[in-house]
Amino acid sequence: MDGLARDKEVMLARHLRARGIDDERVLAAMAAVPREEFVAEHARQYAYADRPLPIEEGQTISQPYIVAFMAQSAQVEQGDRVLEIGAGSGYGAAVLGRLAARVDTVERHSRLAEQAAERMSRLGYNNVHVHSADGTWGLPEGAPFDAIVVTAAGPSVPPPLLEQLAPGGRLVMPVEGSYGHQQLLLVRKDVDGRVTETPLLGVAFVPLVGEHGHPGGGIETDQQNRQHIY
Ligand code: SAH
Repeated sequence: MDGLARDKEVMLARHLRARGIDDERVLAAMAAVPREEFVAEHARQYAYADRPLPIEEGQTISQPYIVAFMAQSAQVEQGDRVLEIGAGSGYGAAVLGRLAARVDTVERHSRLAEQAAERMSRLGYNNVHVHSADGTWGLPEGAPFDAIVVTAAGPSVPPPLLEQLAPGGRLVMPVEGSYGHQQLLLVRKDVDGRVTETPLLGVAFVPLVGEHGHPGGGIETDQQNRQHIY
């Protein structure tokens, strides 16, 4: 077994299972997706470390535990249509793609979106579609979604995302409270459209920037100028 394979075993046993990730489908997805393909060349040796890693544009690929925890909390099932906001490297979307029928992921940095799309086609993750846009608008043409996973922290849940959540759907997103603390929220919409929120965990994510997120940051595309990459 080489170093990375050993590190992956440690990730699965110590960083995931021992901390309460017990959904076997999530664990299988985490075992299947080669995280080293999603990080910069110089960071390959740390691919399975228990921490976020830098990617381009000052963004990060989330810690493996957080990726697994969000996927498990979103209770993604085999036939589900999933929307991710914040494709970043594409790693989280690739994991979700192993769990769901189809994943659409939206990234505001077009360069990151292009790289993520290139990785999906290189690795053969044909059910993952990358879009370059402001994801705080969701993806109206793909709605409704059984699960929505937001991987950047905003002041509140963007209303378009709630609208695009199917009855019975689950949304997982980091939301900021006072003093810069972020809470990972689980939002459920019941079959009658009623919405309930459960705080899950204290977290630290990069900001969700955009129309229904934080102001500024120079959005590269808007809803009218949506670009389908893959
Ligand atoms: N899921 C990613 C981690 C992404 S970090 C992975 O597995 O690698 C969060 C990402 O959200 C960043 O790439 C950032 O550019 C993106 N982001 C921030 N605001 C956004 C918005 N309004 N729409 C789409 N993406 C956004």
